[in-house]
Amino acid sequence: MQILENISLKPFNTFGIDATARYFGRFASVEELQSFITGERSEANSPTLKLILGGGSNILLTKNIDGLVLKNDIKGIEEIHEDNDYVYIKAGAGENWHEFVLYCLTRNWAGVENLSLIPGNVGASPMQNIGAYGVEIAEVFWSLEAFHLHDKKVVTFTLNDCQFGYRESVFKNKYKNQFVILNVTFRLRKRPVFHTSYGAIQQELEKMGVNDLSIQAISQAVINIRTSKLPDPKVIGNAGSFFKNPEVSKAQYDLLKEKFPEIVAYSLVNGNYKLAAGWLIEHSGPTASESWKGYREGETGVHPKQALVLVNYGNARGKNVYDLSERILQSVNKKFGVLLEREVNIF
Ligand code: FAD
Ligand code: NAP
Repeated sequence: MQILENISLKPFNTFGIDATARYFGRFASVEELQSFITGERSEANSPTLKLILGGGSNILLTKNIDGLVLKNDIKGIEEIHEDNDYVYIKAGAGENWHEFVLYCLTRNWAGVENLSLIPGNVGASPMQNIGAYGVEIAEVFWSLEAFHLHDKKVVTFTLNDCQFGYRESVFKNKYKNQFVILNVTFRLRKRPVFHTSYGAIQQELEKMGVNDLSIQAISQAVINIRTSKLPDPKVIGNAGSFFKNPEVSKAQYDLLKEKFPEIVAYSLVNGNYKLAAGWLIEHSGPTASESWKGYREGETGVHPKQALVLVNYGNARGKNVYDLSERILQSVNKKFGVLLEREVNIF
């Protein structure tokens, strides 16, 4: 356990941006984290903590980090309790998310199968309440423990404390940069409730010839769809959806639908509509006659199959990606009067 200096963060972010960390360390326990924070382990006069890293799949580095970057390597998965209907599983923040999903699947614990193959680590899953194919971790979340960087104490957060929303939590808002998540406890079902109505899952299950539905089959369907549709960061740098799907009122949706009959949107229980940001981006562009989808500018661009995904073709600077995102945001606003919000965390 030591502090390294002037380390390239390229291997630590799925965008593959080559920014450097002035100081870099890894911790595998709260005690190790504490010794970095208090400066005990550092000959560098306790440099300021600037970034906690998980798998680096939801960040964009727009500059070198002039401070301390710490990678969370806290491991371990344990069953802490069970009752008639549920098992309660505590996982270390540094566990890989998909490996955690596979661990649950082999034991027939249900609830995370729709969230198969999401990159990153367990510790970041509550940050934006990760979601896919109609399920969010809020539905299986029980509690988490986090280290308060100011008070230097471990605090427990329950479901209500986390204030989960659509790709949101208290950790991205009120408590931004204040806590390091150490572990997360999930409440998983012993008897599954299947979620198959979303998107292409049903279709894929039919294609797979599945007659007896199971959480393993749903997971495999999700894996098949994801590998066929989403760019693999190992091949082309990206951080998944760069923008969130915006929510608009019914009145605004009705106006948009009248003007753009093909617009893709989903009604929400609160009466509002969620617009598919990918559609808005695809139907706007750098000029009135061009689409952003497949647009390339030097080393950065918009993925040709997924307009929501910005990519690094190899040597992009984070600033280039950010500037492109700004132009996209402005052109969508100009054409549709809808302000997109970035989902990816910018540093
Ligand atoms: P990082 O990128 O390392 O960190 C993200 C943020 O959380 C940063 O602000 C970081 O400082 C903070 N953070 C990380 N760990 C901790 C911790 N222990 N304590 C405190 N703060 C912490 N997301 C979805 O929701 N659904 C999807 O379907 C999905 N698909 C994706 C597909 C691809 C191809 C890619 C590249 C990304 C996708 N994502 C998706 C985004 C991303 O995978 C998730 O948000 C994931 O949870 C990020 O985890 P991470 O460990 O990589 O976080
Ligand atoms: P998709 O299935 O082509 O759908 C496009 C968009 O429409 C999605 O963003 C999704 O919203 C929405 N949608 C589709 N069917 C819906 C339904 N029945 N009800 C409500 N909304 C619906 O999307 P995709 O890009 O291939 O992604 C599939 C899933 O993986 C999505 O849930 C997506 O969020 C998730 N994913 C997330 C990221 C990320 O980085 N955050 C990256 C890749 C994939 P939602 O996004 O709200 O689900």
